[in-house]
Amino acid sequence: MDNKFYITTPIYYINDKPHIGHAYTTIAADVLARWRFGQGEDVTFSTGVDENAQKTVDAAAKHNEEIHAYTDRMAGIWESTWEKLGISNTDFIRTTEPRHAEVVSDFWKRMEAAGDIYRGKYEGWYCTACETFYKEEDLVSDGLCPIHKTKPEWVSEENYYFALSKYQQPLLDFYAAHEDFVAPAYRFNEIKSFVERGLEDVSFSREKKPWGIPVPDDPDQVIYVWADALVNYITVMGGIEGWEQHPADIHMMAKEIARFHAIIWPAMLMSAGLPLPGQIVVHGFFTIDGVKISKSLGNVIDPLDMAERYGIDALRYFLLREIPFGEDGDFSETKLKDRYNSDLANGLGNFAARILALAEKEELKKGKLDSAFELEIQKMQQTVFLKTKEYRFHEALAAVWAAIAFGDRYLNNEAVWAIKDDEDRRKKLFNLISLLDNVAAVLLPFIPESSRKITAAIQWEDDTLHAKKIAPLFPRIA
Ligand SMILES: [Zn+2]
Repeated sequence: MDNKFYITTPIYYINDKPHIGHAYTTIAADVLARWRFGQGEDVTFSTGVDENAQKTVDAAAKHNEEIHAYTDRMAGIWESTWEKLGISNTDFIRTTEPRHAEVVSDFWKRMEAAGDIYRGKYEGWYCTACETFYKEEDLVSDGLCPIHKTKPEWVSEENYYFALSKYQQPLLDFYAAHEDFVAPAYRFNEIKSFVERGLEDVSFSREKKPWGIPVPDDPDQVIYVWADALVNYITVMGGIEGWEQHPADIHMMAKEIARFHAIIWPAMLMSAGLPLPGQIVVHGFFTIDGVKISKSLGNVIDPLDMAERYGIDALRYFLLREIPFGEDGDFSETKLKDRYNSDLANGLGNFAARILALAEKEELKKGKLDSAFELEIQKMQQTVFLKTKEYRFHEALAAVWAAIAFGDRYLNNEAVWAIKDDEDRRKKLFNLISLLDNVAAVLLPFIPESSRKITAAIQWEDDTLHAKKIAPLFPRIA
C-alpha cells in the first residue's frame, strides 16, 4: 500500500459557467481531499473541463466565438471559480490538452487490441445536452430526453462500437466482490439491476464531426465524448502506467452520470486490461427553492455570488450540513442565511469569540482535562471520523455542533467569567479552550479558513497558552 490518495470530480462541460450543483460536487471532493491530506496522505485531487463535446461547438456558435477562443475563455472561468472558492485541487485538466489526446489514443488501441471495438451502423437518438445515445424506450413523454425533457436528435451513421455487452457478467462478478464499489448503497442497487437487465454494445464514435479526438487511423471519425472524457482520470496520473500504479480511489459525481462511471468506465478499463477505481461516490440532484435548476427559469445560482455574500466557509458549511449527501438536495438562500446566523454567527463564531476573549486575559497552563470534556472531545472526533468516511457530512458536522453546544452550556452554567478563584477559573477555561482547539481541528477539511483563524489564536508555548481575541468569524447578517 502506498501513501497516495487520488480523488476526482467529473470534468465539467463548458457550455456554461459553474452553478451551485457543480460547486457542491467539487466542495464535497475538496473536503475528502483535505481530510485525507490531514491524515498524512499524498493527495492527488483533480478536476477540470470536458471540452470535446458537441455542445461546446454549439455554445461557441451561440456566443459567436471562434471555438478555441471560446474554450480558452470558458476553461479560464471554471479554473478561476475553483481558485476563488479555495478548492485544493492539484490538477486542472482540459481535454483539449495534448497530454490527454495521447492517452486517449493509447487507451483506444488497447480496447481495439482486445477485440472490443468494431464498426457498425448506428441508428437512434442522441441528446446533445447529455451527450448520450438513447433508445426509443429510454425516452419519456412522447420522445423527450429523460433528463432534459427536450427532443433528442435522430442519428443514423456509420461508427465504431464498444462491446459493452461482453462485460455484463464480468461487471456483475466485480460488483459482487466489491460491495462498496458504488456509494451510497441504494445507488449501487440501481446500477446492479440495470446491468442485470442486460447490456448492449454502445456507439463509441461519431461520424464526420469537426471537433474532438480522432479515432486512431480513421480521421473521419471522432471518439465519442464520453469515451474520451472518462480517460481524463488516467491522463491526470501521467498516463497508463501512472494509473496502473495508482488508480483513482474515489470518483465523485452527481447521479445522472453514475452509469457512465459505474458501468461503462469499469468495462472500458477491463477491456484495456487496467485496474478499476476504488469507489464511485454519487450525490443527488439539486433544486433551487424546490424547483429544478434551469436557465430558462432563471434560477441558476452562481456559487461565487453566494461566497461573496456569506463567505466561502459559510457556503461550504451550508451545503454539507443542510443536504444529506447522496440524496437530492434543495438550495435556498433563505435557509443559507438562517444557518449562517444560527449555526455560524451564534454557534461557532460566538463560542470561539467568548472563549478566546476570556483566555486572552489569563495565564493559562496546560493541565488535565475534566473527564467530561475528554469524553466529549473523543466522541466528537470519532463521530466526525466515521461519518466523514461514510460521506455523511451532515452528521459529522452535527456532531461538532453538539460539542459546541456542550461547551456553551458549560460556559453559561458555570459562569466561568465570574469565577473568583483563579485556579478554578483557569481550570475551567482550559477545558473550554481545549474543546475549541479540537473543534477547530476537526473542522479543518470542512471550513478551512475559519478553522485556521481559530487555531492561530490558540498558540501554546511549551506549557503556556497565548490566546488572542479574534474578529468575529461570522458577523451576523440581517
Ligand atoms: Zn439530455
